[in-house]
Amino acid sequence: MVLLSVLIERKIESLNRPFSYAYHGEKTVDVGYRVLINFNNSKIVGYVIKKEEINKTHDELEKDLGFKISEILDVIDEKPLLNEELMNLANTVANYYLAPLISVLQAMLPPSLKPSSSALKGPKIAYDQYVKVINEDETNLTAKQIVLLRSLKENEQTLKRDIKQAAVLNNLIKLGRVEVFQVEKRRLKMEQYEIEEPKELTLEQKEAIKNILATDKTVTLLEGVTGSGKTEVYLELIEHALNEGKSALMLVPEIALTPLMMERILRRFPSKVAIIHSELTPAEKYDEYRNILNGTSKLVVGTRSAIFAPLTNIGYIILDEEHVESYKQDNLPFYNAKDVAIIRANYHHAKVVLGSATPSLEVKARADKGNYNLVKLTKRVNEKELPKTIIVDISKAYNLTRESSIFSKTLINQLEGVLERKEQAILLINRRGFSGFVTCRSCGHLFKCPNCDIPYTYHKKDNILKCHNCGHLEFAPETCPECGSKYLSKRGFGTERIVDEVNRIFPTARVLRLDSDVSEVRNNIAKTLTKFANQEADILVGTQMIAKGHDFPNVTLAAIVLADIGLSIPSYRANEVTFQLITQAIGRSGRSDKEGTAIIQTYNPYHYAIQFAARQDYEGFYKKEIQFRKAQQYPPFTYLATIEISSKAEEKLEDVIRNVAVNLRNENMENVTVLGPIAPYIYQENGTYHRLILVKYKNSDKIKAYLANLLETFKVDNKLSIRININPYNF
Ligand code: ADP
Ligand code: ZN
Ligand code: ZN
Repeated sequence: MVLLSVLIERKIESLNRPFSYAYHGEKTVDVGYRVLINFNNSKIVGYVIKKEEINKTHDELEKDLGFKISEILDVIDEKPLLNEELMNLANTVANYYLAPLISVLQAMLPPSLKPSSSALKGPKIAYDQYVKVINEDETNLTAKQIVLLRSLKENEQTLKRDIKQAAVLNNLIKLGRVEVFQVEKRRLKMEQYEIEEPKELTLEQKEAIKNILATDKTVTLLEGVTGSGKTEVYLELIEHALNEGKSALMLVPEIALTPLMMERILRRFPSKVAIIHSELTPAEKYDEYRNILNGTSKLVVGTRSAIFAPLTNIGYIILDEEHVESYKQDNLPFYNAKDVAIIRANYHHAKVVLGSATPSLEVKARADKGNYNLVKLTKRVNEKELPKTIIVDISKAYNLTRESSIFSKTLINQLEGVLERKEQAILLINRRGFSGFVTCRSCGHLFKCPNCDIPYTYHKKDNILKCHNCGHLEFAPETCPECGSKYLSKRGFGTERIVDEVNRIFPTARVLRLDSDVSEVRNNIAKTLTKFANQEADILVGTQMIAKGHDFPNVTLAAIVLADIGLSIPSYRANEVTFQLITQAIGRSGRSDKEGTAIIQTYNPYHYAIQFAARQDYEGFYKKEIQFRKAQQYPPFTYLATIEISSKAEEKLEDVIRNVAVNLRNENMENVTVLGPIAPYIYQENGTYHRLILVKYKNSDKIKAYLANLLETFKVDNKLSIRININPYNF
């Protein structure tokens, strides 16, 4: 008989182990197939991870084991869901991130192919009906039939639904003159553009490509300011891969935010591109996936999950804007597309190219050490000057008017000018602006943790300031320790408030808002951006997402309304994220021949992240920030993992997590530091409480084994859930 080990789709950690089932049927079944099983009296989908031929009958086996083995109900697939590379990849990713294998499979596959019951109702292949002439004989045909037959003869195939005279057509089919056939349909409609010849490359671009082709290192960091021609280098490398009969994979942070990039790719490689991102419908995802699988699409462009595209023989994997957080998934399996890219590249002997104007500190450090190949583009292709940048200290009363407490005089003047000249402006703040951080309204003093130098977060319920990094607590003070003022700001600050402010001060200005937190707006990203590009609005207000990759030639003013919000993110990456946001925001202004201005409003005008960003001095920022990381022992000097435990019972939770921390400390593992337990950024949601422990480590072997074991021990308790995040960005 055949004995199968089956993983089931249920997400509960306690079920993250295989169950045994028998199979006596005729169908082919093996590792990687989905099967239908009966589990606790419901029909669900399972995924086979092991198959054994056993030299016993079902009865003998049950007698030997001492328990019953049920039989699967059916085999779902005709071949394994994943090829060998991807199956190994799934296992590697699951092991690396200590995530359930089933969660990795869910992340890798389109809805119709996931190992889950919903997949069975998912979209199927769709077909278009075509007709073609198979017999040109006109004898005994009516006049109408002859006319139609002749017109059909002009084309090899005609879409059936385009033919108006249905009755005539049906008769032609009956008479054996015309035949209907089906062609698989692709439900994603791609824009059609004119084909574009590659540009004559600049000397720097040619050198960059030569270098990347020649390097024997797997990963190259392509560092170059916005407009230095990185995209052109990517396109050239992709062409190289395709010419060699290889495939290529290109990741972007968000498709809707990179319409220009998509257009350039489609102009250069029409008909070879498949697109994968979260905004596609399940049917579109399914079609794109099959196009890749059957080799029609050799170039995949997409967001994070596209890293799992079933391409074979990959030549290049490119991650544009490698520094952005969206490459890291912040729920199970918590993978980072950058890590997965390197695993896949090693298998395919492919090269990974990480591009950015402001590389992440980890990547830059590895390039500096020589682990990664480093290639720089230093000049902007069109030699355009960067905009004039003004830092406005909004803690100084003389920079403000009575008209507004958040728009400085400078900003109001500049906006007036822009509106008068019928140009456009972008106003932005950081996405996580809504967290309460505490500043003094008189002197701008930002309340920070004395241990970590990271801004405190305000917890209204208990009136405390909390460091989300080390757990340090303080009662919220009544007055500012710097200047004694009683006016402390503990409020959030969002895009809506900025829109209100614009409407109040400039009632006739046309304003658009883009905000990643608002889901219905999310679907409208492309629409909003097109409107703005068509100059149907004067001012675009948004979160950091609008700081990326657009080219609005009429924008002559980019303003960061409150740069300090970025600094308040409770994360060791606060400075880095702030620097990146400001640097990119500045680059949005003055992209055409019109002169541009950028304004940074801040309470911390001398903060190095702001100073270096205003000068677009990445190297300067990197040198300073890397010292901070070293002193505080953060990545790239250590690895991080968080253990998050959640429960509805807060007291029990506190006990349990304290115990976990104590036990972990008692292990005394070398080069492992345990911080906490602490309350995470979101420490309570709908009655479920969360606590976490932060672990810093230099060598992963022992600690990972320990954590894997910890996960096992938690499987028995359904009242507590545990999540481990390897290399988290935020906590
Ligand atoms: P990045 O990706 O670094 O921001 P791009 O590749 O988008 O830079 O290039 C910036 C602008 O310069 C684009 O409009 C692009 O079409 C143009 N460009 C890039 N390379 C060349 C080249 N070799 N010759 C002419 N124009 C170029
Ligand atoms: Zn003060
Ligand atoms: Zn702290």
